[in-house]
Amino acid sequence: MKTTLATKTESVYARSRPGASGTGIIDPDFDTEGLPLQDWLPDGECREAPIGLPELSELEVVRHFTLLSHDSHGVDTGAYPLGSCTMKYNPKRSDHLATLPGFAHVHPLQPASTMQGVWDFMLNLQEHIAELTGMDAVTLQPAAGAHGEFTGLLAMRAWFASRGETRNVILIPDSAHGTNPASAAMVGFQCRIIPTTANGLMDLEAFRRELGPDVAGLMLTNPSTLGLFEENIVTIAAEVHAAGALLYYDGANLNALMGIVRPGDMGFDVIHVNTHKTLATPHGGGGPGAGPCGVKAFLEPFLPGPVIRRGEDGKAFPDYDRPHSVGKVKSHFGHVEVLLRAYAYLLANGGEGLKQVTENAVLNANYLKARLADLLPPIFTQHCMHECLLCGGSLQVSAFDFVKRLIDYGIHPPTLVGAGCVHFAKDYSAAMLIEPTETESKTSLDNIVATFRKVASEAAVAPYLIETAPHTTAVAKIVKDEVAWMSVLEVKAS
Ligand SMILES: *Cc1c(COP(=O)(O)O)cnc(C)c1O
Repeated sequence: MKTTLATKTESVYARSRPGASGTGIIDPDFDTEGLPLQDWLPDGECREAPIGLPELSELEVVRHFTLLSHDSHGVDTGAYPLGSCTMKYNPKRSDHLATLPGFAHVHPLQPASTMQGVWDFMLNLQEHIAELTGMDAVTLQPAAGAHGEFTGLLAMRAWFASRGETRNVILIPDSAHGTNPASAAMVGFQCRIIPTTANGLMDLEAFRRELGPDVAGLMLTNPSTLGLFEENIVTIAAEVHAAGALLYYDGANLNALMGIVRPGDMGFDVIHVNTHKTLATPHGGGGPGAGPCGVKAFLEPFLPGPVIRRGEDGKAFPDYDRPHSVGKVKSHFGHVEVLLRAYAYLLANGGEGLKQVTENAVLNANYLKARLADLLPPIFTQHCMHECLLCGGSLQVSAFDFVKRLIDYGIHPPTLVGAGCVHFAKDYSAAMLIEPTETESKTSLDNIVATFRKVASEAAVAPYLIETAPHTTAVAKIVKDEVAWMSVLEVKAS
């Protein structure tokens, strides 16, 4: 990671030089037919004081942002074993295909006769995702995993309403990602949380106690965010359905079973897939993502429109005629350029390739788990899936400080679970959720192991070095005791 003093000290505002400008697009001699420019705008729309933007030349802007980009860690600069996030390498081939002019310059409102290529690929992608997950219909509209959850839950709610049923509770295991209860609450459901047993699986007895006539569904991630396969899934699915409820699959962890087993065959009725995890599209720093949502046939009428369908002439077209739809969840067709990368990834790998992706993802996680076992004992003894949960309790420094030191060696910290750190799962004090993904080579995995060991030995002789890390980044650790600080925030929030 390269940093410079300049990027550490100067914001783009500090670099501003009055009068400097990039290539101007507003010509001061612009012919306003004799009227001052503000008279062209409706009343009240014209700013009274200057906006106060920084003034820089084009080259200064380019340098500023290029230097900033050097200060961040990405999967293109180093390993990124961030559990539950599947930070795999995004092939440049997919970027190249998505930026072919015929796709990159397309506008959603251009004449339908020129949109055929886009609709064809979208239809194919819908069908591939349906096949991969065992679903009957897919919408590509949602813009993220959480947005896919929101869409799927809306469809569930609409289905119950169409049957005159009021069910307002969603069951969620306490190991779930925070987006599950958040999405359920946004759709208007109440959440009931199911505890996890000592072997890391959902507590079946507690689940049975909570499963009543007011329950609309159970949201499950399988494998869970503890990296464990939910072995009781067939029983759970049968009991959910017997109670008249539906089973929702949070597909963010599909990287652990793609090509091997399908959520639809396990009994799930609704799913979402995070293309930016399993299907190798950029996570994009909160920017455009995609979280396609798939459903079994009985829920299809409720999906947001348009759904791309095949017409009688064999051609794909967007179907807007959806009287039972929950409405639109995203403008036009969703994030087409992201979806195109997912499509390219699916085609490039093919069925056998996707299966191999899964096998390697699971193998890599189990390899790290075994190689690190003496330093970071696994919290659960069974084989893990695509990620492993390891205990940092016997390190000489806090797990929180430990992982920050990894940054100095070019490795992104794994997800911390519990101890006031990144909270999306239960409190397993000082636990690290490590997801290497299949795109790291054995050499890279060995380097991760060696680096963990190096930091552990540094911690034994020079804890201060670790407690003040990272040392090579543009911004140092913001608060020294983030663990205590997070608990203060939590108290305030509650
Ligand atoms: C990442 C993730 C989500 C949310 O996905 P976003 O695309 O970030 O909204 C939901 N569930 C699990 C298990 C995840 O890992």
